[in-house]
Amino acid sequence: MIARVSLEIALRKEFDYSIPAELAGQVDVGSRVQVPFGARKILGVVTAIAEESGHANLKPIIKVIGAQTLVTAKVLKLARWIGEYYCCAPETALKSVLPEAVRKEDASWRERLFLRALPVAGEFPKLPKRQQEVWNIVEERREILLSELVELAETTAATVRKLEDRGLVAITSEISERDPYAKETILASQPLVVNPAQAVALAKIKAAMNRGEAGGLKVEDGKARPSSSILHPPSSTFLLHGVTGSGKTEVYLQAIAHALEKGQGAIVLVPEISLTPQTVERFKARFSSGKLQTLVAVLHSHLSAGERHDEWHKIRQGRARIVIGARSAIFAPVEPLGLIIVDEEHEHTYKQEESPRYHARDVAVMRGQMEGAVVVLGSATPALESFYNCQKGKFTLLELPERVDDQKMPHVRVVDMRQAKRDGKGTPIFSPQLKEAITQRLEKKEQTILFLNRRGYSSSLICEKCGHVCECPNCSLALTYHRPEQLLRCHICNYTEQVPQACPNQKCRNPGIRYSGLGTQKVEDVLGKLFPRARIKRMDADVMKRKEDYRKVLDAFKHGDIDILIGTQMIAKGLHFPNVTLVGIIYADMALHQPDFRAGERTFQLLTQVAGRAGRGDIEGEVFVQAFTPFHPAIQYARRHDFNGFFEQELEFRKQLNYPPFSRVALLTLKGRNEDKVKFSADHLKRGLEKIKLDLKDLILSGPAAAPLARAENLYRYQIMLKTRAMSRLSAALAKITSTLTLPDDVTLAVDIDPVDLG
Ligand code: ADP
Ligand code: ZN
Repeated sequence: MIARVSLEIALRKEFDYSIPAELAGQVDVGSRVQVPFGARKILGVVTAIAEESGHANLKPIIKVIGAQTLVTAKVLKLARWIGEYYCCAPETALKSVLPEAVRKEDASWRERLFLRALPVAGEFPKLPKRQQEVWNIVEERREILLSELVELAETTAATVRKLEDRGLVAITSEISERDPYAKETILASQPLVVNPAQAVALAKIKAAMNRGEAGGLKVEDGKARPSSSILHPPSSTFLLHGVTGSGKTEVYLQAIAHALEKGQGAIVLVPEISLTPQTVERFKARFSSGKLQTLVAVLHSHLSAGERHDEWHKIRQGRARIVIGARSAIFAPVEPLGLIIVDEEHEHTYKQEESPRYHARDVAVMRGQMEGAVVVLGSATPALESFYNCQKGKFTLLELPERVDDQKMPHVRVVDMRQAKRDGKGTPIFSPQLKEAITQRLEKKEQTILFLNRRGYSSSLICEKCGHVCECPNCSLALTYHRPEQLLRCHICNYTEQVPQACPNQKCRNPGIRYSGLGTQKVEDVLGKLFPRARIKRMDADVMKRKEDYRKVLDAFKHGDIDILIGTQMIAKGLHFPNVTLVGIIYADMALHQPDFRAGERTFQLLTQVAGRAGRGDIEGEVFVQAFTPFHPAIQYARRHDFNGFFEQELEFRKQLNYPPFSRVALLTLKGRNEDKVKFSADHLKRGLEKIKLDLKDLILSGPAAAPLARAENLYRYQIMLKTRAMSRLSAALAKITSTLTLPDDVTLAVDIDPVDLG
């Protein structure tokens, strides 16, 4: 027998190896193996088993890693699809489906030495003093970790071993699982009585689950489906549209319970930032007891490698049937898989920004189809693409129109900052209306959240005389002034330099330098002067270096030790504070005028989310949105909490410009140190792409053009954008072209299918 192996080094090729007699029966599709490659030993995954090979003199597999196949046949199929659709090397796709902590050759369970007291036969021996002290502890505990005992008794392992020699204790090596949540005490929770809207949603989801495999598409063995099928999933993909607090999570929980009853498992994806202990606890609490009891495994980047290894294997062994995790948890080897939930499905963090550049929501829909699992996408502000898929009948729309507790949506006022500018000298950070509202809250001892999605003090430094802007030497971006450290900092590459005393332009040297544009530090500073007695705290990536910092500030805010919390998008999500009755959005149009067709959608989503932080308690909330383009639809529809209105008008805009969901986009970015070479390569690539047009009639090619961020980390960036309805065919064509394309050594090409970041 021979095994076909995809090697971890990217070669876009698979290689045949013989299976030596001593490994017979241990090698299967999905096994991780070590094989010889030239003089090296390399890891890879078996993708097929065959009787014979077209090649002679095959080298044998050296060894198999792990007792079980690590990549299940189903996940292998998914990886193949990712390689094809997202136009990346199959081995790159395969690599991404296993966490690093599982892939490593020496990855294993942790074994630790346990010590157990043995029954004493006959008379208890007289022990030396030290040994007797140790024994006293053992006698009381009966069973204890050797390391713990050594510490407790302030002794050495050698002394303990003497007890073993006397036959008083047994010391054995055992697996000790690393549980990242071992310290949390979690109280079991019971299902709530659902309200009518939740009941309708649940009934439809359960009905689809009961249809079972029939709902899914059959996938032929070893062959990925044509990727265009992502456009035609059966309607067992649901979009659960409901504002925060409308009870979506309760629907997820009860749908998961249904999967467990059917003997199936579930995967829950949440954005990394929402993977707080509280979120995890809600899922653990529901499934940690009762007759459906199962382990809930958690996969995310804050776990140690050992914890990740153990969590993953609990899933692979079938002991944990529920997985909650960030993006890559979509590859968890849950089997059989009944349900996939993608919470906050519109979040851009579901898109991986390095190869394979997959979108976990779209992969979830694909996996659901392949395995006949029901997929539930949830959001208060669904992605335009997802909502459109409901209109087209590809997804089924489920709505939870009201908050569970009948709370009213906050009252949103849009403040025209052009007015504020006309009234005074220069633009104030706080409009008179917002200032007044803050004053009132301070008097009433209610809390305020102020939002500005930019950290630092001033976003640029400009010479008043010659107009010179201090830019990063590595990136085409103005440097941000950070006041606490008195530094200029690049927000792309983190380059820093001293604040110049005069204009850096040698011909100018004017001492008058103006700080312009604002960041959270300046908001904090000005606010402190306006309200000297208010307790103000800032929350952004500059102050929140560690996870505990985040928790500490939120705890203080919860206990009422902070009056005003200023923050970036870090505070936009999921926070629930009943005493917050005012939210101020300092500069709502900041992201609105960026060269990205999703700028309006992004602004709408962000405003809606931030506004949702107000009025979560008994008192109705108020939101002030300061804007320079107050009549922009994204702002006006957010003001009225009108998702449908926004959707209709945004859809019209996308249609006119033939942007998604009316087409699919592929973005090709060429990068290199030498601008001429990059540009030349881009032109060369463009000529190659023109040929695809013969087969793909609707293909629209634009560029090459300098990227909006024309240079980053010393690399020039040129882009070519392609639009088509038939992305699977385009992906295939791109794979062919890029595999034969010869680029200069120092120019690289990134292919991004369905990009979310056009920068
Ligand atoms: P979402 O996920 O949409 O933000 P949640 O499921 O977290 O909403 O529900 C918000 C709050 O309402 C939670 O505290 C939850 O326990 C409660 N809740 C949800 N559904 C019900 C229900 N049917 N009856 C009573 N309380 C509910
Ligand atoms: Zn830079």
